[in-house]
Amino acid sequence: MELLKKRILQDGVAMGNHVLKVDSFLNHQIDVELFNEIGREFQRRFAGQTITKILTVEASGIAVACIAAQYFQHVPVVFAKKQEASNLSDQVYASNVFSFTKNKNYVIRVDKKYLSATDTVLIIDDFLANGNAALGLIDLVNQAGAQVAGVGIVIEKGFQSGRQLLEERGYRVESLAIVKEIKDGTVILSD
Ligand code: 5GP
Repeated sequence: MELLKKRILQDGVAMGNHVLKVDSFLNHQIDVELFNEIGREFQRRFAGQTITKILTVEASGIAVACIAAQYFQHVPVVFAKKQEASNLSDQVYASNVFSFTKNKNYVIRVDKKYLSATDTVLIIDDFLANGNAALGLIDLVNQAGAQVAGVGIVIEKGFQSGRQLLEERGYRVESLAIVKEIKDGTVILSD
């Protein structure tokens, strides 16, 4: 997606050789116009499938998922929670995820009310690195007996193993921009 690629090159900040900071339009301040184009593009790429839910994980995935959902037909967004919450029933699907950015494990949970065996679920997240967040979300969908339509990612880091892990397991991955390399403060994107 050219608009997104242009923005990454213009405003993305390299943190060492592995992390890309995009706080000015994706992870802190949100460019809603850009998000609308991102949402439209996800819909275009997954148009062939009848999606009944979009699933993401708090916090950064929520805004992307909600804007994208407006381009689908009456599709609710469910976001997995990272905190054990008293307002979450004890009837939850839960999965353990290793965080790439925080270097620790956490549990994601979705109330069983919001995923069911009749759902076809599109998973959306802001970044794909080693695939742990996406695999955790897929685990929740599988626990519910629902179908995974695919994984939609705003920015994939192609030098990490996420795509390979997901594709090996048979899941479709659609990334709107792929970072080939981060080197000496420069971000290099795939064509
Ligand atoms: P994974 O689970 O695929 O290893 O990492 C994906 C998750 O870690 C995303 O949900 C995202 O929040 C965070 N993440 C991984 N790499 C980056 C990065 O380079 N920049 C930012 N902003 N977040 C990242």
